[in-house]
Amino acid sequence: MAQPTALLHGERWPVQGFESIQPGTFDAATVVFPNMAAYRARDWTRKDGFIYGSHGTPTTFELEARIARLEGGLHCLLSPSGLSAIALVYMTFLKPGDELLVPLNVYAANRVFITHELAAWGIHVRLYDPTDLETLEFSDTTKLVWIEAPCSTTFEFPDIVEIAASAQARGVLTALDSTWGAGIAYRPFELGVDIAVQSLSKYANGSGDTVMGAITCNDKGLYEALKLCAMRMGLGVSARDAASILRGLDTLCVRYRAQDAAARFLVSELSRYGDVLRVLHPSLTACPGHTFWQRDCVAAAGIFSLVFQERFSSTDVDRFVDGLKLFKIGFGWGGPVSLALSYGRSVVSAEPLEGELVRISVGLEDPEDLLADLAQGLRLLPSID
Ligand SMILES: *Cc1c(COP(=O)(O)O)cnc(C)c1O
Repeated sequence: MAQPTALLHGERWPVQGFESIQPGTFDAATVVFPNMAAYRARDWTRKDGFIYGSHGTPTTFELEARIARLEGGLHCLLSPSGLSAIALVYMTFLKPGDELLVPLNVYAANRVFITHELAAWGIHVRLYDPTDLETLEFSDTTKLVWIEAPCSTTFEFPDIVEIAASAQARGVLTALDSTWGAGIAYRPFELGVDIAVQSLSKYANGSGDTVMGAITCNDKGLYEALKLCAMRMGLGVSARDAASILRGLDTLCVRYRAQDAAARFLVSELSRYGDVLRVLHPSLTACPGHTFWQRDCVAAAGIFSLVFQERFSSTDVDRFVDGLKLFKIGFGWGGPVSLALSYGRSVVSAEPLEGELVRISVGLEDPEDLLADLAQGLRLLPSID
């Protein structure tokens, strides 16, 4: 055999009789079929065979199986990001002339996609207030209701059960952004939704270094429609990124619990600063939908927001955020390092905000160190001691 040929064809591949703790990273664009009959029998919606890298590899199918189990569903499809997973649900199930119902405080990038892309495709969008279901108005063309539980900046918690039941009674699909729940705080399908969409970039990854999304459902027909739309658009995820998320899943539950506990410790300590700010977190009775959080959840994600009193300017609040030493400034949450980001006064929420909002994502640092850092940051505000 000539040297280039000898170098290119494997000797000990595929590997049989080998198993390690991590599932293994199977990189592929091309996937090799054993023969023409197998090639002709290929079916893009099935996972008992492999077709092409973007269709799936043993690594990505393993991650899909584990996310389905985590969310309590049967079928899961990975997507290159949480946002692309949201867009894929819209593109699969909405056609020109259809109507989509969306909470008015929906994740900002979701709203941008709706405003720019869905509107251009002739899809009608109607906003509803998730804290007032009188505003959840269906029409003959309503095809999908989007739910987010809770809003990820102001934390209003909707009555998922009621929204899902109303939609189901009219034959309308429901999709829930379950990024905050992460498969731990609540069980999307027991609450009645059809589809759960999660950004794995947050808690599942947990290291702040991989972007990915997942769509989970129980209905095979829904899964197949999503998978075919994804394949037609050429969406897929790399095995290396899937392996990174798989490692994150090993510690997901303990991290989530630790970050939840640390966030609640900080929420309770910060409530002492009532003359400076108000804290938003679904465990607080003042949070709209607190009773639904209590009814449907066994935990909370490690994020909360601070709403400063009106007298503090954006310059004052920027000084607080810039003055924090442990909290870094950046998008995302669920990672090991705590984050703080000022959203100003422009946040869309069920009730208008009286002042500047800062969202805090709690990492895995010692909670006492985080509290000391927040306290020194607050002392940088005018007339605080
Ligand atoms: C981050 C986030 C997304 C988008 O996820 P990416 O993986 O960053 O694209 C969607 N929904 C919520 C609630 C998020 O926080």
